[in-house]
Amino acid sequence: MSDCLFCKIAAGVIPSTKVYEDETVLAFRDIAPMAPTHVLVIPKVHISGVSEITAENAALVGHCLEVAAIVAAQEGLENGFRVVSNCGADACQTVNHLHFHVLGGRKLTLEMA
Ligand code: 5GP
Ligand code: ZN
Repeated sequence: MSDCLFCKIAAGVIPSTKVYEDETVLAFRDIAPMAPTHVLVIPKVHISGVSEITAENAALVGHCLEVAAIVAAQEGLENGFRVVSNCGADACQTVNHLHFHVLGGRKLTLEMA
């Protein structure tokens, strides 16, 4: 088992509140939600971030975004939602395992930085 937090969550070694799971992707609630809905969508295999997306794993990454749409529908976010992925130190990425934040349930601000 790698020392990666989200690899451990994907393996079920560290518990999470799952909202969607299939063979390759897991979605679970963020431990420190910044909106009424704040879900993290991750590939179960370790990809460190957006900078590591390649032609080889692009289908899996696309599936992560498909799951983001499924989660948004499940959560009733018909008024809209935001999908964010922080990559690297300047973006304040704190967990180096690719994840997409799905945020919604209130009017979000336009602030991007
Ligand atoms: P980042 O800052 O890398 O874009 O996002 C990491 C996210 O993971 C943060 O929003 C943080 O609250 C969340 N997080 C950190 N540790 C845990 C954990 O143990 N469980 C869950 N569910 N979320 C976590
Ligand atoms: Zn990992």
